[in-house]
Amino acid sequence: MDTVRMSLDDALSLATTCLAKNGCDEHNAKAMAGRMVQAERDLCASHGLFRLPWCVSGLKTGRVNGHAQPSVEQIAPTVIRVDGDAGFAPIGHQAGHQPLADCARQNGIAALALADMFHISAMWPEVEALADDGLCAFAFTASYPYVAPAGGTKALYGTNPMGFAWPRKDAPPLVFDQASSAMARGEIQIAARDGHSVPETAGIGPNGEATTDPNVVLEGAQLGFGGYKGASLALMIELIAGPLIGQHLSFESVDDDAGVGGPPKGGELIIAIDPARFGSADRYLAHGETLFAEILAQEGTRLPGSRRFEARATTARDGIEIPHSLNEAISELM
Ligand code: NDP
Repeated sequence: MDTVRMSLDDALSLATTCLAKNGCDEHNAKAMAGRMVQAERDLCASHGLFRLPWCVSGLKTGRVNGHAQPSVEQIAPTVIRVDGDAGFAPIGHQAGHQPLADCARQNGIAALALADMFHISAMWPEVEALADDGLCAFAFTASYPYVAPAGGTKALYGTNPMGFAWPRKDAPPLVFDQASSAMARGEIQIAARDGHSVPETAGIGPNGEATTDPNVVLEGAQLGFGGYKGASLALMIELIAGPLIGQHLSFESVDDDAGVGGPPKGGELIIAIDPARFGSADRYLAHGETLFAEILAQEGTRLPGSRRFEARATTARDGIEIPHSLNEAISELM
């Protein structure tokens, strides 16, 4: 594939300028661009600059507020709510991070309900940031209907990811972040774009037929990972990132979108736990290390998140590569 190489700083400047030229103020543009470049830095292309044209389409249709000013409210002793003001999710995360961390430290556990935000992308940035502050964290979100319920053939659930982070003393946090579908939507779109096939477990065609063609899966439905087990996780996430926090179910996002396209509007639930409030944080965290040591003692293992942490050294030195066609598409938006 024909690619273009650029430094992380240049990628940030490119994405910020593109969003600013399409209706974002500086604060909103920098926050969304920063999130995409974090994904590129960690070699997670499906949440990187690949999403920029999609985000611009949300701004152009007027659905996304490029001047959003999120508001923060404590709605119960351990529950914080952020109204994202119909902006991109990262400024909602910025507004909610410290109040959630403070509330978790005070009470041992706290929840952040983020509402009315667009393009909630990967979950690891928000849970990793909380673990960097010494907290355990969970994050959940729903999106558009892409995944069939167990045994069904029609898309109903989002690919509903969950992220988890555990703080470590002398190492980057342990972080995993995964879709409840067999494959993330973005990975299937990228396979379609690049002419690759996908595993038969990734999804089914419009009539429930087996396929390895990503284009057919995009017209049909994705499948949960591990069959009904992944589908049940997707179901749980629909409930806790939708009705529980007053936000849409994935299939309702389509009505809200009214066929205009662009990133879905929705919410996210983040839960933070302070290990210090459960006893001795040092002792519990040291105990966790014994598990990591046992895992790594087995040949062929690695800790989740380690690939991303290693990618940071490479991309800081060598920059990133994006497809030439994507670079062209971004240029046309400016
Ligand atoms: P992956 O399957 O690529 O990875 C899932 C997790 O497993 C990662 O934490 C990864 O760590 C870890 N992992 C992978 N291989 C191993 C291994 N051999 N040993 C130990 N751990 C391993 O993620 P998905 O494709 O499911 O999701 C990709 C991204 O898309 C996620 O960030 C997710 O949040 C996002 N997403 C967002 C959605 C939304 O609606 N907003 C919907 C669905 C997905 P590592 O990173 O180190 O490889």
